[in-house]
Amino acid sequence: MFKVNENYLKLPGSYLFSTIARKVAAYKEAHPDKEIIRLGIGDVTQPLAPAIIDALHKAVDEMALAESFRGYAPDLGYDFLRNTIAWEDYEARGCQIAADEIFVSDGAKSDSGNIQEIFSEDCRIAVCDPVYPVYVDTNVMAGRTGTYDPASETWSRVIYMPCTAENDFVPAFPSENPDLIYLCVPNNPTGTTLTRSQLQGWVDYANRIGAVIIYDAAYEAYITEDDVPHSIYECQGARTCAIEIRSFSKNAGFTGVRLGFTVVPKDLKAGEVSLNSLWARRHGTKFNGAPYIIQRAGEACYSPEGKVQLKAQVDYYMENARIIKEGLAACGYEVFGGVNAPYIWLKTPEGMDSWDFFDYLLSEANVVGTPGSGFGPSGRGYFRLTAFGSHENTKKAMERIRNL
Ligand code: PLP
Repeated sequence: MFKVNENYLKLPGSYLFSTIARKVAAYKEAHPDKEIIRLGIGDVTQPLAPAIIDALHKAVDEMALAESFRGYAPDLGYDFLRNTIAWEDYEARGCQIAADEIFVSDGAKSDSGNIQEIFSEDCRIAVCDPVYPVYVDTNVMAGRTGTYDPASETWSRVIYMPCTAENDFVPAFPSENPDLIYLCVPNNPTGTTLTRSQLQGWVDYANRIGAVIIYDAAYEAYITEDDVPHSIYECQGARTCAIEIRSFSKNAGFTGVRLGFTVVPKDLKAGEVSLNSLWARRHGTKFNGAPYIIQRAGEACYSPEGKVQLKAQVDYYMENARIIKEGLAACGYEVFGGVNAPYIWLKTPEGMDSWDFFDYLLSEANVVGTPGSGFGPSGRGYFRLTAFGSHENTKKAMERIRNL
């Protein structure tokens, strides 16, 4: 009789967003006349920029001719894209990253979930709390868990680093040394960041204790403040301790197109073993390359027109972030984030439970947000709104909240 991977049975019953979808569907069925505004899921709403559409059309036409048709892409990515990324995202900004340290993929979710595979089962992980749930869930699937405490909703072998208003959303170094440290900066869900010197502190700490930082910079394009680094490789010593994961989803609206990349510097080693080689082996074995058409679309993000058009999209969402943040603050809410990220993180009024606040906003304002508790135990009593809607809906949602 076959056996299943029992680690999967340890996962919480349902993914946060399916619970939200179920609740919203039930409300809609009971109140078909109500117009619901969704500021919950972190999906973009603006169409792809013209420079990207042009690149897609051109690449599709190439596929129609025998001379320019492309089959399997190189496992690790086409040189035209790896070279462009190496220059635009790193070398031009003073970071030492070469094209063969960049691994093109179908997005940051896959990479941030898969990266743990190249580490030993014994590794102890540390995660910011609250954070994007994929880091903990994929380590649970791999068995790096210990026992689960339902009261605190924590695993005994996972080190949770609380990030709350009390510590300005800056995690403290854990009392026990972790082997892998997940940092998501700018953070989903809190929308907060680390300054250059704070991140340098984490790089120094990781080098000192021999840990690897897995740095998820999916929201890098939303950084507006000078003191917030766009890449961990802006910090001294990051090449020996950090893997960086990036996405085209939020800077270019590729959530449905699918493209991302991971940087593994060649200086990152466990003894004589290079993590760059291990990840190349893993990626080449389990992934057959992102599509040519999509990689050409990714390249177009870095063209002069592409850059201008994408900046306008990010600015559009950040204007929503400003509207939400200022609107909530004017109503007396304690609000965080929204300056270097498209997420606004608020304290629920009068210590209300996150899910109760979700139900309250849904029924009284017909606005959907995301309960903070879904992102980790320290998210309890918080709530996330996203800036990815239209201006019109964002303003309407804020008006409804104001009228509550
Ligand atoms: N990393 C973080 C922190 C995210 O919030 C998300 C999506 O919401 C992702 C990664 C997923 O990115 P992608 O669409 O490239 O898979």
